[in-house]
Amino acid sequence: MVTGANGGIGTAICRALAKEGYQVAALCRCPSRAEPWLEQEKAQGYNPHLVIADIKDQDGIFSAVSVVEAELGAINLVVNNAGITRDKTLKRMQEDDWLEVIQTNLTGAYHLCRAVVPLMLERQYGRIVNISSINGEKGQMGQTNYAAAKAGLHGLTMSLAQEVASKGITVNTISPGYIATDMVMAVPEEIRQSIINQIPVGRLGEPSEIARIVTFLASPDAGFITGSNLSANGGQHMH
Ligand code: NDP
Repeated sequence: MVTGANGGIGTAICRALAKEGYQVAALCRCPSRAEPWLEQEKAQGYNPHLVIADIKDQDGIFSAVSVVEAELGAINLVVNNAGITRDKTLKRMQEDDWLEVIQTNLTGAYHLCRAVVPLMLERQYGRIVNISSINGEKGQMGQTNYAAAKAGLHGLTMSLAQEVASKGITVNTISPGYIATDMVMAVPEEIRQSIINQIPVGRLGEPSEIARIVTFLASPDAGFITGSNLSANGGQHMH
């Protein structure tokens, strides 16, 4: 089950998982964006199972999990990828900007984990991958809300990993740097170049490079990796 499936990185994750033979449940919030996306993905040769829910809505997420389990079977992998930005300096940030980002990027992951972890515990198997950000590792001016939420995902990951490690469930975080999604490609060329100049490998990351980490963490080979954070940022931030 992949949240924010119809976004730039979400699409790459769904495609990579389908290629590995997973049946993909694609959680999207907005039918008018999700339905054309579904047709586009079918044309890629796989058939994601679309579920519409807002990650901020706990009841909606519990129902989405029940529907997917009834229609597709056990959810053995969750990718908490849905995320938003509402960038402003703290001086200008209204409580709505703060809460919307925390509730989507952090509480949303809690909602889905809360719904699936009891099922995974019963089955003694599960993989959870949380998509954080380089800015959750190093902070970023104008992103107190986003960086706090993304840093919070690391705390959630490490704590939950300890709670479920003995039951065959791994929980990890991926922290992408700047990735060539529509959002980043829409930035004026000059600004994009100044971003690239800060990346030692000299280019943006590709969504498929994040997706490949997801498929690895989801695989049986990654069973000894839990509570980890994998940074994929072209060397922009090392720690
Ligand atoms: P996109 O904006 O392309 O995708 C975000 C997805 O999240 C969209 O499908 C969006 O749905 C969905 N979403 C947003 N709010 C909700 C909600 N309340 N309920 C359900 N779904 C929701 O972003 P990216 O693909 O670039 O980013 C994916 C993840 O990667 C995010 O968590 C982001 O923070 C993180 N990331 C991205 C980086 C980058 O450079 N692109 C760098 C570091 C981290 P809708 O289409 O309806 O808006």
